[in-house]
Amino acid sequence: MFNFILFGPPGSGKGTQSVKIAEKYNLAHISTGDIFRSEIKNKTELGLKVQGIIEKGELVPDELLIEILDNALQKFSGNVGFIFDGFPRTAQQAEDLDRMLARKNDCVSMVLALDVNEEEIIQRLLKRAIAEGRKDDTEDIIRNRMNVYHTQTSPLIAFYQKQNKFKAVNGVGSIEDIFGNICLEVEPMI
Ligand code: AMP
Repeated sequence: MFNFILFGPPGSGKGTQSVKIAEKYNLAHISTGDIFRSEIKNKTELGLKVQGIIEKGELVPDELLIEILDNALQKFSGNVGFIFDGFPRTAQQAEDLDRMLARKNDCVSMVLALDVNEEEIIQRLLKRAIAEGRKDDTEDIIRNRMNVYHTQTSPLIAFYQKQNKFKAVNGVGSIEDIFGNICLEVEPMI
């Protein structure tokens, strides 16, 4: 299986690009942010538990991620692999993902980061706040999410670099240009 992690800070375009990649290469798209937003919308027990955390821009505890990941991995069949969007976000989650894939005799194939500078990100997220009305897209919360990214998520770059699985592409430009950059990296690997 081709198990692909699209990596990058909030607002780097992971969601938009993941949908396109999943469709082109027949990968199952797993967005943990989308799963949480749907749980919140449906007011499930999990949704009620995570709502306050997400609205503050903090990370949901790792134990809850294992649970939803396990469910998500089992739901799909007939795809040639997975694209993970917004997961893993902590060292613990990266280790849990390795363990879950190992149980299926599988592993992470490639981690690709979208490179976008911080000011561009803040501008994009403020625009998204107006367009989509996401409660975690106000300026204070955005800055908190960037902070969380730098302290808890960016150390994963070194984790995957050590395994020779990490690459980065330019994430600034038109959606189609960025998609083209990603495809150039994915194609030789799939
Ligand atoms: P996203 O749409 O990926 O930016 O996720 C929105 C919010 O959901 C994040 O700011 C976190 O609060 C929560 N979330 C999504 N994925 C994760 C994850 N892998 N670990 C912890 N929290 C997450």
